[in-house]
Amino acid sequence: MGLLSEGSPLSWEETKKLANHVREHGITQFINLYHRLKDRTGDILKWGDEVEYIIVKFDDENRVARVSLKAPELLNYLNEKELADPKGVKSLWRPEYGAYMIEGTPGRPFGGLMAHFNLVEANMRYRREEVTEILDKDECVMSITNFPRLGAPEFTHPIYYPNPDDPNSSDKSLYFPDEAIFPAHPRFKTVTRNVRKRRGEKVAIKLKVFKDINTKLPVEGAPKGEPDVVALDAMGFGMGCCCLQLTFQACNINEARKLYDQLAPLCPIMLALTAASPIYRGYLTESDCRWNVISSSVDCRTEEERGLRPLSENKFRIAKSRYDSIDSYLSPEGAAYNDVPLTYDEQDYKRLRDGGIDPLLAQHVAHLFIRDTVSLFSEKIDQNDEEDTDHFENIQSTNWQTMRFKPPPPNSSIGWRVEFRPCEAQISDFENAAIVCFVVLLTRVILSYQLNFLIPISKVDENMQTAQKRDACRKEKFWFRKTSKKSCYINGNGVNGVHNGTKENGETNHEEYELLTVGEIFNGKADTFPGLVPLIRSYLQSMEVDPDTHCTIEQYLRFIEKRASGELVTTATWMREQVLNHPDYKQDSVVSDRINYDLLKRIKDIQEGKVIEPTLLGKGNHSKTKDSLPPALQKQLAMNGCCENK
Ligand code: ADP
Ligand code: MG
Ligand code: MG
Ligand code: MG
Ligand code: MG
Repeated sequence: MGLLSEGSPLSWEETKKLANHVREHGITQFINLYHRLKDRTGDILKWGDEVEYIIVKFDDENRVARVSLKAPELLNYLNEKELADPKGVKSLWRPEYGAYMIEGTPGRPFGGLMAHFNLVEANMRYRREEVTEILDKDECVMSITNFPRLGAPEFTHPIYYPNPDDPNSSDKSLYFPDEAIFPAHPRFKTVTRNVRKRRGEKVAIKLKVFKDINTKLPVEGAPKGEPDVVALDAMGFGMGCCCLQLTFQACNINEARKLYDQLAPLCPIMLALTAASPIYRGYLTESDCRWNVISSSVDCRTEEERGLRPLSENKFRIAKSRYDSIDSYLSPEGAAYNDVPLTYDEQDYKRLRDGGIDPLLAQHVAHLFIRDTVSLFSEKIDQNDEEDTDHFENIQSTNWQTMRFKPPPPNSSIGWRVEFRPCEAQISDFENAAIVCFVVLLTRVILSYQLNFLIPISKVDENMQTAQKRDACRKEKFWFRKTSKKSCYINGNGVNGVHNGTKENGETNHEEYELLTVGEIFNGKADTFPGLVPLIRSYLQSMEVDPDTHCTIEQYLRFIEKRASGELVTTATWMREQVLNHPDYKQDSVVSDRINYDLLKRIKDIQEGKVIEPTLLGKGNHSKTKDSLPPALQKQLAMNGCCENK
């Protein structure tokens, strides 16, 4: 979302009436943009991260930490800076769902040089310092995935109380006051209201409580008959979480489709590796990740669509929330692994096919468009379908999936891009930079070595659930594509031979995938898979890399290697240990104000480098990250993809 306001939101009733209008024009807009841009080629690798942050206010006297609802004030200042010097600023700041949240990205995307990997962490550090400068002394900007006591009594500063009976309350939550939703932009409250109205009731998010010896059942607010459930009832519980995303540009549409597919099976694996949110509304839960929470928090499906009642008013049963893992692959190699039936309207599909879109892309877009718009602004109703893409973007940007296939925006120099969206936000800039650099490097390795990670979509879905289990990173196994020793091996000079592809007839069979631990996926399994980290190392040997960048990347790889092997623990596991070992913890699953305060203070010390937590980060990490590119490195070999016409 850009800086400018979108205008006046329509009521739900008006929005609902225009759902088919948005669908019809959105699909036309996609067909038009496709034909304008399908042959665009030769774009270079560009990439950038998005980190979301929570502003925390510490009451040191009473030892209570709260979220500070000052994002609008911070953004006023940060965006003024941007408007004054749009090309020169080193960071860009955008509103997020919570009035206590902000999202920061680099001022410009990073480019295709190896040395750019050395700039990310410094840029993240700059962002944190930039915000810290305008905070009060008792406040802190933190890249934590969830505020542990979000929705617990008096969790905001200033304190507001939920008011579910207020006719103007957008979510009617018993726990999450409307004031905690970003107020200056009408979109957030509008979407909240419309999701609830479309669904026909409040959203219902359920998490199993972590049962300790003194855990009191039923948990406060548990649904009838489900005493061990921590119930959450507002969009804010999910959309109010922070995450780490990255976008990269492909050389053309085919490369984008390929990378979209190849990274999709890695989403649950990266979710498990970055797990960082075990505590909700002040309770330890059985889940380590935000994913199911955020998925349910925007689940606008009606009872009919969820299969609870026979279809009468709605067109389809819909298997998933509009926030979830992807449902189909987009590349020709992926087609054979699309084993989950895709819901879409035959007429929409036919229109896309008649419009010249191939079957895989047509079904992808038709599937996105089974969703109705949940936010429409009066100024945006009538558009020029030859040029505008707002109706397409309206539906595209409210399908919040693990991967996003992003067409070039109108009238820009930007190419086809892919967004990687599963990762949870990590405490330190070092960790966040490590994850981002790792994934971008992985895209280079996939292209250079023509790796193939495809497994059936149903197996990716299974992995998504496995990934969220307590300590999945160390304890669970994940479906992963099987390789044979013959077809994929590393010698001293890099990888020879190509990972085995789809069988010639394109069929999949049971022998194509096996269960691996996260450690085996990242670090290798004897005789079968070399491991993602060794593959990246091998790729790097063939690249010209300056010593500082090499050192930084090596630190990142070592960190990832250790977290995957279990030598280091995930943020979620570390947080659990902090709670369980806290002197005030009563073995009752409750994360009290005091425990929350101490946990967040500890996190603050870690992110500022004042404290080293050996189980989380090892013995300290000293990357050689830099603020800008030394001129001598500009000549470096650019990392290209597989583009035939470079
Ligand atoms: P969204 O919220 O829609 O995902 P943002 O604008 O917040 O998008 O973030 C997009 C990310 O993509 C930023 O990190 C930005 O630096 C990066 N980016 C910008 N232009 C390009 C480009 N041409 N190719 C790849 N990434 C880009
Ligand atoms: Mg963004
Ligand atoms: Mg965001
Ligand atoms: Mg209220
Ligand atoms: Mg994004």
